[in-house]
Amino acid sequence: MRKIIITAALTGGQQTKDRNPNLPEQPDEIAEAAHDCFNEGAAIVHLHARDINGVPTGDLAVYSDIHARIRERCNIVIQDSTGGGANLNLEQKAECLKAHPELASLNMGSMLRTIGKHSGSVFINSQSDIEYFARQMLERDIKPEMEVYHHGMLKEVHNLIQKKLIKKPYYINFVMGMAYQGAVDGTADNLVTLKTLLPEDSIFNVTGIGATQLPMTTLSMLSGGMVRVGMEDNIYYKKGVPVESNAQLVARSVRLARELGFEIATPDDAREILELHANQ
Ligand code: ZN
Repeated sequence: MRKIIITAALTGGQQTKDRNPNLPEQPDEIAEAAHDCFNEGAAIVHLHARDINGVPTGDLAVYSDIHARIRERCNIVIQDSTGGGANLNLEQKAECLKAHPELASLNMGSMLRTIGKHSGSVFINSQSDIEYFARQMLERDIKPEMEVYHHGMLKEVHNLIQKKLIKKPYYINFVMGMAYQGAVDGTADNLVTLKTLLPEDSIFNVTGIGATQLPMTTLSMLSGGMVRVGMEDNIYYKKGVPVESNAQLVARSVRLARELGFEIATPDDAREILELHANQ
């Protein structure tokens, strides 16, 4: 039976407690949410740090604090975001890598923001930015999870392979249903065609934003992929019903995976499958 790796994306850089008060923002809340997700079956936790006012921050001290608090509780694989938030520059977004996560997200291209208070600005991830992050990760043996929001971004994956900036197996996350201009909708047809562009020796994950989270992550399981759920991507359990906790979303994916005949990967299974070597 294939093992499904479930990633819990707890906080993100956009959601706020105003929209859902259950969103974990501070290190103690994030660590507790990570532990709860681990207990439900998540193998990886995807982290964004916030300052004391809830604003996205690249502060290494905050990331280190979150890591330490998670490690006190469990051995879940830690993945930091290098997407950070719209208020952070390139260097600030890369600060978290100094906290030595085992994995880090890497956005594979640019889009135009169409929502939130930074609507109308460009979410810039130029080829040189992507290579900058990839080098920083390679030096520290941190595997990138490459965030691909549309078909054209697979070209950047091939660029990193050609320049030997990433190692096999390549880990690619199809982020579907994002509201940004340029992002693909979360549909079955889009997942099928994205898959045809994957390089050899790659493992894919699927993130569905908002209402596409449940159908697209379920389809990913059936299509040979992994699953990312969490309040970064979706704050409603179903239409009109707010999510109570990140763990609630993980628990649903675990139930679905088991019903469909899959096993759930433990953190150590995920380390083996993704060939992670960085510090735990
Ligand atoms: Zn994120």
